[in-house]
Amino acid sequence: MPELPEVETVRRGLEQKLNNFIIKKVEVCRYSTVAFPTDKEEFIQGLRNSLIYKWDRRGKYLIAQLKEVQNEKNTQLPLENSQNNGFLVVHLRMTGYFKFIENSSHPCKHTRIRFFDKNNNELRYIDVRSFGQMWWINKDLSLDKIIKGLGSLGPEPFSKDFNANYLKKVISKRTKSIKAILLDQTIVAGIGNIYADESLYSAGISPFREARTIKKNELIKLKESIVTILKKSIGSGGTTFSDFRDLEGENGNFGLQTNVYRRTGKECRKCGNLIERQKITGRSTHWCPKCQK
Ligand SMILES: [Zn+2]
Repeated sequence: MPELPEVETVRRGLEQKLNNFIIKKVEVCRYSTVAFPTDKEEFIQGLRNSLIYKWDRRGKYLIAQLKEVQNEKNTQLPLENSQNNGFLVVHLRMTGYFKFIENSSHPCKHTRIRFFDKNNNELRYIDVRSFGQMWWINKDLSLDKIIKGLGSLGPEPFSKDFNANYLKKVISKRTKSIKAILLDQTIVAGIGNIYADESLYSAGISPFREARTIKKNELIKLKESIVTILKKSIGSGGTTFSDFRDLEGENGNFGLQTNVYRRTGKECRKCGNLIERQKITGRSTHWCPKCQK
């Protein structure tokens, strides 16, 4: 599943590719991809004549700010002065990705939603497993209220709100494993299985530890590990997902290597001990029993 670095890579790609992209036509190939409004025609009509003005990211959500452009020829004003037209929100889940296609061509069978501009350029949303979702939230509605997962997100790992004191406070009574805590999006936004395993390895903390037993100095180290690993991964365009694609349809793997994730039975790069794997709350967890206490 794409995690924060991959979603951030997609966000940057969208911002780069979609220069003043004004949606003229929307085609919904699979209705269940549209999470809101429940009336799909409202989604289609609501997005027409929208300038995709700016892309933000919150956790694993992509959020496009929209401006309403009824007649672009008449618009002498800079486009950014146009009226707000709410937000297009996207969650890629397991296998969703975007592709930007100049001079649109026939879509593949996994195409879920297509956005066209007046020159027939297409922003195509493809999703093999179809867990991804999209919302059009008009300007009078609240994003956080309609998208519950967005409203309940914890702080971004790069924000100043995410620090050892914060972690100490939120986990002081939690008996869940620290791995489960890191995957909990209401505690910290954007971390999934890969970055949880890699951060815990880097901080030398066993994923099985009860969260409340982790000391302040360990939390300082954990926070630093999370930030360092996420930043490094964003810099290399996301990690090694067989199913993660950027806007050019390329796999985001630029040779960044993981230390524990999917290295079961291989030697630990620090101590030579074998990397182990076990499930924690249903997720495969990879760790070095010797380096992580
Ligand atoms: Zn080791």
